Amino acid sequence: MEEQAKETIEKRSWNLDWDEYFMALAFLSAQRSKDPKTQVGACIVNKDNRIVGMGYNDMPNYSKDEDFPWEEAQTAEGNKHLYVCHAELNAVVNKIQADVGECRMFVTLFPCNECAKIIIQSGIKEVIYYNKPDIPEDDKKKQQKEEIRKATEKMFGYKDIVNLRPYKPKRGTDFKIERKDPECRAEISL
Ligand SMILES: [Zn+2]
Repeated sequence: MEEQAKETIEKRSWNLDWDEYFMALAFLSAQRSKDPKTQVGACIVNKDNRIVGMGYNDMPNYSKDEDFPWEEAQTAEGNKHLYVCHAELNAVVNKIQADVGECRMFVTLFPCNECAKIIIQSGIKEVIYYNKPDIPEDDKKKQQKEEIRKATEKMFGYKDIVNLRPYKPKRGTDFKIERKDPECRAEISL
């Protein structure tokens, strides 16, 4: 009897590595944000690669959409920066593990100095960021952003308390998320 040729099933050679996986989740989380200008997502992962916290930039809990502004006016009534809770803050307070020491955080945007403080105080040991913030045209705002970035780097760098590293796309991995209305399907292009 003629022996049948065995079909060989090979394992997939193209699967996401951990960095790609967690950064993609941070990008997906950012899509929950209602901020019209900047959507940020963060994902905290422990040393066993278990997700222990997720967050995105949003207004304080229990508020309704009309309660706080999304504009950037220079008044208490119209300045979102006075109210918005950043993705990193939300990821830390939403954590499901009491101790996040030895954890790492994936975040879609370079953390501001206020979030840097929260990250340090929580015990997180590594931050992997995707984007540096846009540099504004306006000279005063540009200087402010640069000072904030320097403060974050100074705090993280002090005694190397937090290892800060940019996400390095391998194989051209990108995280542009396109929402296809009206079907409302989000696609991550990799
Ligand atoms: Zn922040």
